[in-house]
Amino acid sequence: MEYVSTRGAAPVLDFEGVTLAGLAQDGGLYVPREWPRFSHTEITAMRGLPYARLAARVMQPFVGGCLGAERLGELCEQAYGRFAHRAVTPLVQLDERNWVLELFHGPTLAFKDVALQLLGLLFEEFLAREKSQLTIVGATSGDTGSAAIDAVANRDNVEIFMLHPAGRVSDVQRRQMTTVRAANVHNIAIEGSFDDAQAMVKRIFADETVTSRLRIGAVNSINWARLMAQVVYYFAAALQLGGPERKVAFSVPTGNFGDVFAGHVAARMGLPIEKLVVATNVNDILHRALSDGDYSAGEVTSTASPSMDIQVSSNFERLLFDVGGRDGVALAEQMRGFDLTRAMRLTEAQSQGALDLFTSVRADASDMASAMDWASRHCGQILDPHTAIGLHGAQQVDLPADVPKVTLATAHPAKFRDAVERATGFRPALPARMGHLFEREEAFETLPGTYEAVRAYILEHAA
Ligand SMILES: *Cc1c(COP(=O)(O)O)cnc(C)c1O
Repeated sequence: MEYVSTRGAAPVLDFEGVTLAGLAQDGGLYVPREWPRFSHTEITAMRGLPYARLAARVMQPFVGGCLGAERLGELCEQAYGRFAHRAVTPLVQLDERNWVLELFHGPTLAFKDVALQLLGLLFEEFLAREKSQLTIVGATSGDTGSAAIDAVANRDNVEIFMLHPAGRVSDVQRRQMTTVRAANVHNIAIEGSFDDAQAMVKRIFADETVTSRLRIGAVNSINWARLMAQVVYYFAAALQLGGPERKVAFSVPTGNFGDVFAGHVAARMGLPIEKLVVATNVNDILHRALSDGDYSAGEVTSTASPSMDIQVSSNFERLLFDVGGRDGVALAEQMRGFDLTRAMRLTEAQSQGALDLFTSVRADASDMASAMDWASRHCGQILDPHTAIGLHGAQQVDLPADVPKVTLATAHPAKFRDAVERATGFRPALPARMGHLFEREEAFETLPGTYEAVRAYILEHAA
């Protein structure tokens, strides 16, 4: 499979190339040149497969030429063997119309593990082959950092520098990062916001003094391999609910548009999907874009669902490219305009193309709390704040009565215990597999929020 940039001016790469590159050189994001398609019969034949085998089957067309079927199968067994539930992503029924797809049974309690556990293994595999070293630099508002650190700790030929905004991630989230003691893991607390940290990471990628010395890699969802791994659970859920015979709808708590874009990919590959609901909190740029074509960034508001407190959703560019005619030159121009003014209008083709499959629902704090309360009182299910926003989206959307609605449960409620306790009166316990998180020693460096300080630290500590 060949991959092209959404901005049309970066080299075409194979799967190994895009996995190690992250962002394309022209500032765009890599997407497959064309979508592989499974027939109805091929999808039916996937019923009943264990998750790791389903994963290998769904992903094989994307890795073609870089990994054989057998090796891919081994890596999937290894990645998904670390999940605490045999089904990896179990489906739980709430009422006659609604299900939740639990994506939080991995080592760090959020859906990011599903992709990052595999990505850590892919890095190791490809770096050994190329006899090369990779320095990952990332910024996190909480969940990506812990999942990425767990995925690469003690792996060969790769090291990770993870920036988080000092004092602005939850205790559980911080400790999941800072109590991992491995020589290749560097935690940095930045005196500043998540946006400051992310801006520094983008500068590192463009800094020739750094890139001439270190090969810099990415673990956020600009990395294609992450989205690819997330396509699998759309197949898993739909197959259990009667697919491909019966169409299913998904409601997805959305920030950077990575998870829900994976649903679009599943549909392109032939999985019958009725609707994808983009569920946002009050940081609603995607809701405005989908409902009236207005993609304009405002100020970020802090909410009880911090992993969705995002104004610019990187992966939306992949959708605009795919439904807007796959014209990299035109999209590069449109995105340049957005970078200057922080606002743009979707073209008619982009809007119409997106609305074939997507719809959107915005939830404020009281919508979120009501959904959490409803699930707790009527269904005995404690949801985290992100998942509750997804459920609100599923409840609001109007669909034919025979279409099951699946809300993606993106985090374990214990990861956001304070918000859950406020809405339900119940304080969820950390699962036993987290061990003695609050007794383990922490290690991290606090740096001033300046680019120079971060850059000097990375150059000094990189292996
Ligand atoms: C990252 C994250 C999201 C948002 O996912 P995107 O792929 O960025 O849209 C939602 N919920 C939780 C708990 C997350 O960690």
